[in-house]
Amino acid sequence: MKIFTSKSEIKEFLSALKMDKKSIGFVPTMGALHQGHLSLIKRAKKKKDIAVVSIFVNPTQFDNKEDLDKYPKTYESDVALLESVDCDVLFFPSIEEIYAENVTSEEFDFDGLEHQMEGRFRDGHFDGVGTIVKTLFEIVEPDTAYFGKKDFQQLQIIKKLVEKYNLPVKIKGRPIFREDDGLAMSSRNTRLTKEHRDAAPFIYKTLKKAKKKFGAKSPEDLTKWVEKQFKKHPLLELEYFTIADEETLQTAKDIKENKQYRAFIAVFAGDIRLIDNICLKNN
Ligand code: AMP
Repeated sequence: MKIFTSKSEIKEFLSALKMDKKSIGFVPTMGALHQGHLSLIKRAKKKKDIAVVSIFVNPTQFDNKEDLDKYPKTYESDVALLESVDCDVLFFPSIEEIYAENVTSEEFDFDGLEHQMEGRFRDGHFDGVGTIVKTLFEIVEPDTAYFGKKDFQQLQIIKKLVEKYNLPVKIKGRPIFREDDGLAMSSRNTRLTKEHRDAAPFIYKTLKKAKKKFGAKSPEDLTKWVEKQFKKHPLLELEYFTIADEETLQTAKDIKENKQYRAFIAVFAGDIRLIDNICLKNN
């Protein structure tokens, strides 16, 4: 695997491959890699000639300094994992390489997608995401970029970014990878205390129960039901639960036949904020 820290060097290396008509699949990450990340990289390898991964903990998408400072960094084991799936290229830039002296976000208009859920609770988060993803796309110029549905709102926002700026890249959303007990894999899971780790599968269990009840209960009643389940839980604190239209991400008031809905959740397990979501069938 080739490892680059410099924008100009990776650009030069990839442009030679593009001249050779090699297709490029790209997986942006913040490192502390797990099977969820690896599934995206394996997909990129399968579908494209060259798989490029970036590891960059992007400061502008964190609204909480402690969360940024404590974000897990496991560079050596990340490199070993990337090599185990035959990743071709790793881009591992410094903050200065990406932002120079100006560590700020561009401001984006994602047609309102950015004001829902994560955008409501994490100030400026999607301006940070838009800034880094657009920058990385300009450096790597991939044919296709792969994103997990674990961050479904982010996936929709990146599709909007590509549409609005006419970026020449295809965006593919991929399934959520889970631990055996159902907890969605996340780099932040390693920061959970044993007590909170044992409690955390309750999140997906509740999502699955909500999915079963969807249709029989109105979105509002279902939301109240979920809120009640978490009020009773001694270790997990619900930040939000919302049933939203997958396309607009607006909270659903009633259910329409021709729309697809998804339930979204954010929960605090101690200091650690976990998110998850589940697709809801409307029939
Ligand atoms: P992150 O390193 O958290 O920024 O995630 C990098 C990419 O991996 C994003 O597209 C995430 O949606 C995706 N990802 C993270 N966790 C999972 C998971 N459990 N299953 C599938 N994709 C994931």
